[in-house]
Amino acid sequence: MAEPIQAVKGMNDILPPDSARWEWFEDTVRKLMRRYAYLNVRTPIVEHTPLFVRGLGAVTDIVEKEMYSFEDSMNGDHLTLRPEGTAGVVRAVVEHSALYDGGKRLYYIGPMFRHEKPQRGRYRQFHQVGVEALGFGGPDVDAEVILMCRALWKDLGLGEVRLDINSLGQPEERQAHRAALIAHFEAHRDQLDAEAQRRLHSNPLRILDTKNPAMQSLVEAAPKLIDFLGEASLKHFDGLKAMLDAAGQPYRINPRLVRGMDYYNLTVFEWVTDKLGAQGTICGGGRYDGLVELIGGKPAPGIGWGMGIERVLDLLQQLQVNPPLPVPDAYAVVPDAGALPLVTCTIEALREAGVCVQLHAGGGSMKSQFKKADASQARFALIFGGDELALGQVAVKPLRDASAAQILRPLADPAAWAHTLRAP
Ligand code: ATP
Ligand code: MG
Repeated sequence: MAEPIQAVKGMNDILPPDSARWEWFEDTVRKLMRRYAYLNVRTPIVEHTPLFVRGLGAVTDIVEKEMYSFEDSMNGDHLTLRPEGTAGVVRAVVEHSALYDGGKRLYYIGPMFRHEKPQRGRYRQFHQVGVEALGFGGPDVDAEVILMCRALWKDLGLGEVRLDINSLGQPEERQAHRAALIAHFEAHRDQLDAEAQRRLHSNPLRILDTKNPAMQSLVEAAPKLIDFLGEASLKHFDGLKAMLDAAGQPYRINPRLVRGMDYYNLTVFEWVTDKLGAQGTICGGGRYDGLVELIGGKPAPGIGWGMGIERVLDLLQQLQVNPPLPVPDAYAVVPDAGALPLVTCTIEALREAGVCVQLHAGGGSMKSQFKKADASQARFALIFGGDELALGQVAVKPLRDASAAQILRPLADPAAWAHTLRAP
């Protein structure tokens, strides 16, 4: 036998029955998007590397060390497997002048790629659902995108997700805060770890995001951005808070909440759970009013979020939320292969009428076929036996209800009795 070839480390196969959870999640997301009038967008998985370098900022974890970048051997182009969704969506919207007639509310679902150390909740190919609301500058849309996450938790049956919010203000306000931050960290240089030392002048805001326990008290004592916000930024933040309050959505203001990407301003938020260990952030997002212009479009505000599907599904499992698994309505038992043309014709008609029918393929004894029928969890067996067929009929045997009797149905018109097989 040939040496087996395995999947790439940190990239997972999603097989049945797990894939049913994924489909259920995606169906739930699509219904949610329809309720909020967000439309689907699909962009390529590969983009020109400079899109991410420009869009995310050169001094970010993603661009510094997590991107799958390569040279196109045909033409030397520098390409990258998308590590996140926003930059590509904004590029597409700019490229197609999609904002010419007003704002757009968009969503995507798909794989993202980051070269990280694989562990629970952290993979090299992972999946995100995300929304981008482009062309809207007010806190009303901030509240909208946050509350649609809450609606999703509810639809999924997830109770325990906490909301953290913060405001990053505007670039000038961040400059003033940045200067104060550098002064603070410089005064305590001996307490900084190597990564923080390196970031001190390039991206001091990211030091606040450190996971190093030894630096926590230093970070706690650092100057807070909120104290540097001007009137307009505070008004925007107050507007958001008023809408969340009115909607009865609790939140925590977390002054240390800074997003991994440079392009965020004003509102940032995260949905967090304690149930997933270190990888507790299941959704993160915020406003990025400068990004459209940075990508080469006419200035337009934007806000969005990205949600890690693996983490949400893991959390659902932790909380023992089990979606209904799809089972066939009926399992077709075929004692004699000679009957197959008639069987095929009948089950095709049933399927056309909306019944899920699994055909027993490959022959075998009645006993083994019934065993398979049982294992399929179908509610009925359709028995295409010689005696029944001779009468122009098929036997319908209830498999889940011992008290229900087997009955005969005419082969002539399956559509007439199809509804008796369909799930209630
Ligand atoms: P973290 O701090 O956990 O690295 P992040 O700030 O890099 O997260 P974002 O870039 O904001 O994450 O992505 C949005 C969401 O995507 C995260 O909140 C998380 O749920 C999910 N996510 C990010 N990276 C991964 C990964 N490598 N594997 C699985 N899910 C991920
Ligand atoms: Mg990360």
